Amino acid sequence: MSFTLAIVGRPNVGKSTLFNRLVGKRLALVDDTPGVTRDLREGDARLGDLRFVVIDSAGLELVEDDSLQGRMRRLTERAVEEADICLFLIDARMGVTPADEIFADILRRKNAHVILAANKAEGAAGDAGALEAWALGLGEPVRISAEHGEGMDDLYDVLRPHA
Ligand code: GDP
Ligand code: MG
Repeated sequence: MSFTLAIVGRPNVGKSTLFNRLVGKRLALVDDTPGVTRDLREGDARLGDLRFVVIDSAGLELVEDDSLQGRMRRLTERAVEEADICLFLIDARMGVTPADEIFADILRRKNAHVILAANKAEGAAGDAGALEAWALGLGEPVRISAEHGEGMDDLYDVLRPHA
């Protein structure tokens, strides 16, 4: 038995970077420009001896555009519905933003099984943000750096029971 993991969160928190690290192929487009990944992408993930399906969901891009915001919300909800577990990413360097709160609400409303991760937590710059993430009420944030591959052993530990 395996599981499907959806990576969700607002734009620029590093969802596609983590997806690419887990899948090992550049299937998802990563770009500094918010709004680049607008669809669900699926890949076969490997993390240690774990094999699972991972979904890269688009974030809440261009929040000033209501129709697009609605579309992103629906996309996130679809990802949640397709997944067994949601990995909810926040940016540890930015701390918890209003957009993060919106996503936390979506996940709570959908009754999703959520694992919270504070990404970009390499070095000390992510310490405050990772602490702040506790306030989302979604449990202990796993500190990771998708870009530098840090915290992957901790991510393994929280995913292992679901395999
Ligand atoms: P997405 O919009 O959530 O898919 O985010 P992306 O994966 O496109 O990443 C957005 C930006 O954050 C890119 O410039 C990435 O290089 C950067 N990024 C992703 N992960 C990390 C990380 O662990 N640390 C740092 N410092 N930057 C990261
Ligand atoms: Mg992306």
